[in-house]
Amino acid sequence: MAKHTIVLIPGDGIGPEVTSATQRVVEAAGLSVEWVVLPAGATAIEQGFDNVLPERTLAAIKAHKIALKGPVTTPVGKGFRSVNVQLRQKLNLYAAVRPVRNLPGLKTRFENVDMVIVRENTEGLYSGIENEVVPGVVTSLKVASEAACTRISRYAFRYATKRHRKKITVFHKANIMKLSDGLFLDCARKIHDEEYPNIDYEEVIIDAGCMRLVQNPERMDVLLMENLYGDLISDLCAGLVGGLGVVPGANIGDDAAIFEAVHGSAPDIAGKGIANPLACIMSGVMMLNHIHEEAAAAKIKSAYDAVLADGTVLTRDLGGSAGTKEFTEALISKIA
Ligand code: NAD
Repeated sequence: MAKHTIVLIPGDGIGPEVTSATQRVVEAAGLSVEWVVLPAGATAIEQGFDNVLPERTLAAIKAHKIALKGPVTTPVGKGFRSVNVQLRQKLNLYAAVRPVRNLPGLKTRFENVDMVIVRENTEGLYSGIENEVVPGVVTSLKVASEAACTRISRYAFRYATKRHRKKITVFHKANIMKLSDGLFLDCARKIHDEEYPNIDYEEVIIDAGCMRLVQNPERMDVLLMENLYGDLISDLCAGLVGGLGVVPGANIGDDAAIFEAVHGSAPDIAGKGIANPLACIMSGVMMLNHIHEEAAAAKIKSAYDAVLADGTVLTRDLGGSAGTKEFTEALISKIA
């Protein structure tokens, strides 16, 4: 088996706990990896770098093209600009892909949920263009470009076709944001009509879409949306299938990809050894598929499906009492 070089950003909060669990699981599946461990966020400053997103970290991802990342805390209302947003913009990781599905043995309010959120990852309200017009009046600019809306739409339709998915639903608010969300819809519609008429296509105003999600999530297939909507809807959908501990993610560009769970640094449970590493491990499985290590990916997937179905070793967020290490070891023993 070829040796892979993968950049590892442990992040902070529960990041180091869940990424080290993922390293162990990936290696247990037989993958030979050289991990290039580099910091981002407050950890980078603590380690003596002069920037929350050190040039060395960026350069390593550009060079090796693949990274596994733990969550990074972003200060609220002040402080440095989100490292996640910077990474996605600087590396042009334009597609966030987040599969949300019911897992074996995990009882939730819904059954047969199996959808994928495709979120535009580089613009919208995350462009970071904010101004104080006069004291007491501020603006945040929502940016939509034809190039980015077309690129993410084409990605979603190509993904749906490859994965034998049937339908793309675009969530939007073009009744209010007629220009920006209107452009998003025009681009998605054009890609559907001209390039992928094989996939069913529908447009849903996002407020009604939220209701549909919590009434009949099993009817959704691929959801396509701009940046902020994708962020919010991802957490909502995580709640449908067992929470943030079980939803993985990938940030994909043409030249690099970063794999990370949807969840954040969970400061409330950091350092306690109780975080669920599964979302990060599942992101690792997406990473293995991306680098064409499908056999190792399948091994890990059937191992966690078996641990979940067995139900005796579950972390607390899933109703069990196991810690991060215990769950990881149960998973590794199933791989073995
Ligand atoms: P969060 O996802 O960190 O936590 C929300 C809730 O879910 C908490 O109660 C937490 O304990 C629980 N939770 C999350 N992941 C879990 C896991 N693996 N196992 C068990 N429980 C888990 O969201 P937040 O509290 O809003 O954000 C905390 C920080 O993380 C913020 O600074 C935010 O900016 C950052 N963040 C980073 C990323 C990223 O780096 N990709 C993503 C989202 C949020």
